[in-house]
Amino acid sequence: MRDRFFVEGVHAAGDRVAFAADDARKLVTVLRKRTGDRVQVVDSGGVAYAATLDVDAREVSATLDEQLSGGEVEASLAVTIAQAVPKGQKMDLVVEKATELGAFAIVPVRSARVIGHDTSPAKVERWRRIARSAAQQSGRMRVPEIPDVLDWDALLATFSRYDRVFVPWELAEPAPLRAAFESGLAGARSVLVAIGPEGGFSAGEIERARAAGAVTVSLGHRILRTETAALVVLSAILYARGEL
Ligand code: SAH
Repeated sequence: MRDRFFVEGVHAAGDRVAFAADDARKLVTVLRKRTGDRVQVVDSGGVAYAATLDVDAREVSATLDEQLSGGEVEASLAVTIAQAVPKGQKMDLVVEKATELGAFAIVPVRSARVIGHDTSPAKVERWRRIARSAAQQSGRMRVPEIPDVLDWDALLATFSRYDRVFVPWELAEPAPLRAAFESGLAGARSVLVAIGPEGGFSAGEIERARAAGAVTVSLGHRILRTETAALVVLSAILYARGEL
């Protein structure tokens, strides 16, 4: 019963739902589930159900038996990580770990120094699959949303949707993050954190972010790699809010 699978759409007890091909494969060939076995199903609204499987030659589906209580799996603060896409496979790591930690959404960003890194639609699809399987693995009730890649200025245009926006910048005046988050997060329900690529942000990008309402913060005296920075800030925010 611990196995939990995400399905599209918002459902109710009694509904019959079909699983996506990769989940169907996992259920039948990896977990060796059969008709009548019970699994947990989570719908797009983040509601979990106890469900009974029906495996036939064409598809794997389940009937939703009863709604399960949601518990407190999801963080009370929605933290969105905007990550300037790094080189190679590093974004995979950020997506997987940020999902485990409880990120609400992960926005891939094309900033000036991302030029040449792979931001193709195939990559975005790959990150979505990684988020889905990490969410399943860590018992989350929702899969973090991963929108299409945004350019820096398109990201700035979304700042007003968040209660707070922080941009870690290695040239910011060093000050304890604890102080910034203790006072800076009071009353916030949604936070956006934008992390630069290996080459960092340009001065112009920082200037425009500040003009759009972002607060620049230091992550201390040592320069962190971009993938470390994302995970550290996410952990620090959740810690400051008592979520870790
Ligand atoms: N190339 C830059 C560092 C970029 S690190 C240099 O060598 O100076 C990649 C990203 O991680 C940065 O854009 C920033 O968002 C974040 N970051 C890493 N270390 C940081 C620090 N000490 N303070 C604030 N942000 C940091």
